[in-house]
Amino acid sequence: MSLARAPVLAYVGIGGNLGDARATVERAIEALAQLPGSRRVACSSLYGSAPVDAGGPDYVNAVAALETTLTAPALLAALQRIEQAEGRERPYRNAPRTLDLDLLLYGDGRIDSPALVVPHPRMQQRAFVLQPLAEIAPARVPAAALAAVADQAIRRL
Ligand code: ADP
Ligand code: MG
Repeated sequence: MSLARAPVLAYVGIGGNLGDARATVERAIEALAQLPGSRRVACSSLYGSAPVDAGGPDYVNAVAALETTLTAPALLAALQRIEQAEGRERPYRNAPRTLDLDLLLYGDGRIDSPALVVPHPRMQQRAFVLQPLAEIAPARVPAAALAAVADQAIRRL
C-alpha cells in the first residue's frame, strides 16, 4: 500500500490591481512554482482587464497550471499564504487587491464546502479567467463559454 497521492492538475487564477500589479503577479507566478509537492507546468500570458462590479485601476491577470500532490484545501491555504505575503487585505467585497489567487479547477474534482467551491463558481462569467485559461487549457474552456463573455474588455499585455 502506498500513501503517496497521485498528482492532480490544478489551475490557479491570478489577479491584482493595486501597486505594481504586474510585478506582484509575476512574483505570485514564481511563488506558485515553489509550492511544496507542486510543479508549475504552464502559465498563460499576462492580461489586462477593467474591474468587474468594482472601481479602481485595471487588473493584471494570468492563469497557471500546477501539477500538485497537495489536497485542494491545502492548496487553497497555500494560495492564501501567498496573498497574505503580498499584503492582501479584505476591507469589503470586491475591494481592490494587491493579489487574488483563486483555485479554478482541481483535476476533475467537484468540491462544495463553506470555504472552498471548485470549479470556481464565478469563473464562467469572467473573461479575465476564461481567456488565459483557454490559452493554456483549451479543452477546459468550451467555445460557447468564451463567446458568452466576449463583450468584456480584456487585452494581452
Ligand atoms: P473573491 O476572490 O471572490 O473576490 P476572496 O479572494 O476574498 O474573494 O475569497 C473569499 C473566500 O472565497 C475565501 O475565504 C475562500 O475561502 C473562498 N473560496 C471558495 N472557493 C474558492 C476557490 N475556488 N478559490 C479561492 N477561494 C475560494
Ligand atoms: Mg479570491
